Amino acid sequence: MADCLHIDANCPYVVEEARLHAIGGMVDIKSWPDYMRKAEITIVDTTEVVPGESHQDACDMPCCESRLKFQIWDPNTYRNLVGIHPNARDPRYFVRNALHRHGTKSNMSLEEAEAFFERVKEVAESVKERGVHAQIIAVSDYMHKHENHLGSRPLSEAVNPVFLWGIFHPLAAPKWWKDNCYWIKYDSADTGAEVWMYDERLFDREKIDGQDFKSLNPEGIIPCVDSKGVFRRVERAHGNASEGFNLRGILKPIEDRVFLLKGPTHFLDIREVSYHAHEHYWGESGIGFSDTLEFPHEE
Ligand SMILES: [Zn+2]
Repeated sequence: MADCLHIDANCPYVVEEARLHAIGGMVDIKSWPDYMRKAEITIVDTTEVVPGESHQDACDMPCCESRLKFQIWDPNTYRNLVGIHPNARDPRYFVRNALHRHGTKSNMSLEEAEAFFERVKEVAESVKERGVHAQIIAVSDYMHKHENHLGSRPLSEAVNPVFLWGIFHPLAAPKWWKDNCYWIKYDSADTGAEVWMYDERLFDREKIDGQDFKSLNPEGIIPCVDSKGVFRRVERAHGNASEGFNLRGILKPIEDRVFLLKGPTHFLDIREVSYHAHEHYWGESGIGFSDTLEFPHEE
């Protein structure tokens, strides 16, 4: 169904949607008053949905939830209506998920990936007369068209260039970055990497309290090396409220690299940092172009 994932084909919501679809009817979106959409049913491949994992966009009718026992996060309608769910205050539990495939938009050799990031300069130059705002968007679009979102399957299956998107979070960062960021747990000094990112599908962040960096289980943790000094050049917004970053770069096997945390098989050679802060502060920093700006921006 167009709005959320249902597992049971006989779910009352699915039955009603199918009835409307058969007569070419429209569906009233209650949370969005003046909007109607066509009744529609879409079949979705759920082989990568892991039983137990938290799922945001899923039907919370017992018939659906009991078939694939996900944790419902941000429940939509039914539970709230009948009062059987305390909403988003449920404790969330960790389920290891090594099922998600890596993105396949591109398949570049190390040299090709290097050239890809070097072309950012040209991309930014081509819209220079329209201002920094246009340049940030152009760089971001260029990345988006070619980058591969990292999945949770073994990193040896991933192809370049890669994007550590929103499901990846910093575990350790340099002290100069970390000082104002309470959400980064460890200082990366002397660990062999500038930044350590973890995949929330593989690494249980809740479990690390009181643990020494060296004793962590490296599964889902990726060392990120800033060999081109990109991360260091990121311009940050003043105030540092709710700021964050996503990294793009070239994934390389660890051969003779030495890291303090033993066990990772690959590291990310950072080539581009996408920075965000508050609700609308955004920047792209890389080899050929680096800038940060408030959006929307009046020219
Ligand atoms: Zn349902």
